[in-house]
Amino acid sequence: MSEVLVLNSTYEALNVTTFQRAVKLLFSGKAEMLHGRERMLASPTFEIRMPSIIRMLYYIRRPMQKVALTKKNVLIRDDHACQYCGTRGERMMTVDHVMPKSRGGESTWENLVCACMRCNNRKNNRSPQEANMTLLRKPRQPKYIPWIQIKRNTLPDEWGKFLFLYNVSIDERVEA
Ligand SMILES: [Zn+2]
Repeated sequence: MSEVLVLNSTYEALNVTTFQRAVKLLFSGKAEMLHGRERMLASPTFEIRMPSIIRMLYYIRRPMQKVALTKKNVLIRDDHACQYCGTRGERMMTVDHVMPKSRGGESTWENLVCACMRCNNRKNNRSPQEANMTLLRKPRQPKYIPWIQIKRNTLPDEWGKFLFLYNVSIDERVEA
């Protein structure tokens, strides 16, 4: 994998780019290398480590992307993990109204969670308290879902500390 993580000057993850583009940014003085790979890149005139993480030397302003409240985005926010039992899966996950619709529960970020079919059925038309089921974490409106596509399990270790800011998995690009 020769993809490069690009950070803003504030160390916030911006996107993932090719190493060719990253090298260009480095050589034009627009970015600095934060983490290089073992492999060297060499030409007759230079030799540098293959970049893994680069950081822009100036701030890239970008509009806050509002995250649309969709079933898909709720599942992404919750990392496709059932918020009651922790089971994970890309398929067979449902969106549960924490306070059931029939009881006045609204369709909001704070009242929707990813739930496996088993938990959803078990909970039925009850509140978590009534069903004696606890949420793993309090559902919130995500401020931002990064527009970064990374395949699960191919993340270089060194990227982790710059991606911890996100409480969502980043394996899927979210259409604005
Ligand atoms: Zn479950």
